[in-house]
Amino acid sequence: MPTDAIVLAAGAGERLGGAVPKAFALLAGEPLVVRAVRAVAAGGVDRIVVVVSPDRVAEVADLLGALEGLSLSIVAGGTSRVESTRLGLASLRGDPADVVIVHDAARPLARRATFRAAIEAVLAGADGASPTLPALDTIAFVTGDRITEVPTRSRLVRVQTPQAFRRDVLMSAHEAAAAAGDVSATDDGGLVLRYLPDARIVPVAGDERNLKITTPLDLELATRLLAQFEDEVEVSGEVVGRSSRRSSSGT
Ligand code: C5P
Repeated sequence: MPTDAIVLAAGAGERLGGAVPKAFALLAGEPLVVRAVRAVAAGGVDRIVVVVSPDRVAEVADLLGALEGLSLSIVAGGTSRVESTRLGLASLRGDPADVVIVHDAARPLARRATFRAAIEAVLAGADGASPTLPALDTIAFVTGDRITEVPTRSRLVRVQTPQAFRRDVLMSAHEAAAAAGDVSATDDGGLVLRYLPDARIVPVAGDERNLKITTPLDLELATRLLAQFEDEVEVSGEVVGRSSRRSSSGT
């Protein structure tokens, strides 16, 4: 079954600071958007649409032109993540039961296993799948100047991208959100559950290394992670150590 992917790269990334939007920040010399698109391609998708701010379409086309062999298109995004996803989705045609991946360019270190887990959960019958990890900090609601509620931590998870959905489920949720003028969702699993509460969105294994780059510290941590794990290479979709790559004799 065909799988499409939407890579969201139209954010301003104000919390990162810097002279360029976040998608163009360099991680070990390469823009986040380029690394993210390469990660998505390694995840085994058929078509990729990259959503960027309207004034950056030509620049991203140039940057990604070097990634040969990909079915790639670049479209202008909106002023919110929800709008950018909707515009990316609108540019893709396909069957209702196809799988659509949504991935944030802010997560350039996502690995193939995470893409596969999300895609396979949808192929196995879920409406959607989100990578999750246990919550480590205790999380609280604050109202005004008071902490008003502290949910039980053991029930909370951290949610990452790449997320996978049946195309018709994601389309319906975005149509409903657009009709309601609602652009507040911070992820697509949450958006789907807001408008299709009976949808079955399942958790799949998240990855601690799949950092979301938000602040300068995240960029520093990601640079160190890359250096620390530089012995790992993706070969035929499997992460293998340098020694096993040497002994694989090209098979
Ligand atoms: O702002 P936040 O960090 O939640 O953004 C998550 C992802 O959504 C980023 O990859 C960002 O580029 C993307 N985004 C977008 N269009 C927007 C806002 C955010 O594509 N208007």
